[in-house]
Amino acid sequence: MFKPKAIYYEKEIFNYPLGRELMKKYEEVNKFEIESHNNIEEMRSNPNSEFANMKRNLIIGVRKTHKFVENHKTSDFLVPYTSSGCIAACMYCYLVCNYNKCSYLRLFVNREQMLDKIIKTAEKSENSLTFEIGSNSDLILENTITNNLVWTIENFKNTKNGYLTFPTKFDMVDPILPLDHQGKITVRMSVNPEEIINRVEFGTSRLQGRIEAINKLKEAGYKIGILIAPIILVDNWKELYKELIQKLSQELSENVKKDAFFELIFMTYSYVHTKINEEAFPNAINLYNKDIMTGRGRGKYCYKKDVRDEAEIFLRDQMHKYFPNNKIEYIV
Ligand code: SF4
Repeated sequence: MFKPKAIYYEKEIFNYPLGRELMKKYEEVNKFEIESHNNIEEMRSNPNSEFANMKRNLIIGVRKTHKFVENHKTSDFLVPYTSSGCIAACMYCYLVCNYNKCSYLRLFVNREQMLDKIIKTAEKSENSLTFEIGSNSDLILENTITNNLVWTIENFKNTKNGYLTFPTKFDMVDPILPLDHQGKITVRMSVNPEEIINRVEFGTSRLQGRIEAINKLKEAGYKIGILIAPIILVDNWKELYKELIQKLSQELSENVKKDAFFELIFMTYSYVHTKINEEAFPNAINLYNKDIMTGRGRGKYCYKKDVRDEAEIFLRDQMHKYFPNNKIEYIV
């Protein structure tokens, strides 16, 4: 159970039931009032070595921007939702882009306003629309603090023409299993070889727990996607990813294997990640490998084309062998 070291809050949160509820729940935690969740001076001036410590705080505010961004992968819109950032610390997390602002967990208590906009957009549409609500945080993790996912599913389930989807790296799915979700929710579980989870995805659920969570979610009627992501080309990557795909084929239920779809995503990394990780996790693996990575503009790196192409052929081959009937939505 996560217990924050300190809470930084905007005073407007008292205008919302969830704001009052959270302040009561964490009554005995030290609290500091802030002007804006976007600009906490104390966090901005912290050195990189404080990265993991900062993630032990909780920031509670009101979300002011509600702009939907069109998307063409597994949803129609990316939607800013009830949280941003996370208390885990995956070394490649793209929310680290600006760690003084985005990486720690910020909760937004005006959930009624955010869900209402999603419902109205869906109901106005003639075609069905899918909304990605988990692109800024991990909602299974957030749910353990706010119960927001349970609340969302219960309040969304009768929305005409609307569907929700989100990715997760956590196995605490039990609270959503008994819900009447009307088949409107797709949970996309992100997996990686156990060795990579242990060495890179600090604070997330283990592979076994994630596999069990997928099976339970499917039994509860949720649609299932599986993200093999991010694919990290460490020295023994072939062996690791082969074992992972094999393990998934052995341990996912027949029910899951019937229609789960896959997304395969190669890791991108950045100069900012390198700097923070070097100072925050000095003993951890270095994910930047100059021999197989190349610049992609603005301090970002991705795998060189020939390296990536070889990996894609290998992974498609393994997927074809172990999951011949499952769709790969994309490999990027
Ligand atoms: S679980 Fe997701 S949001 Fe949290 S640190 Fe890892 S990649 Fe980032």
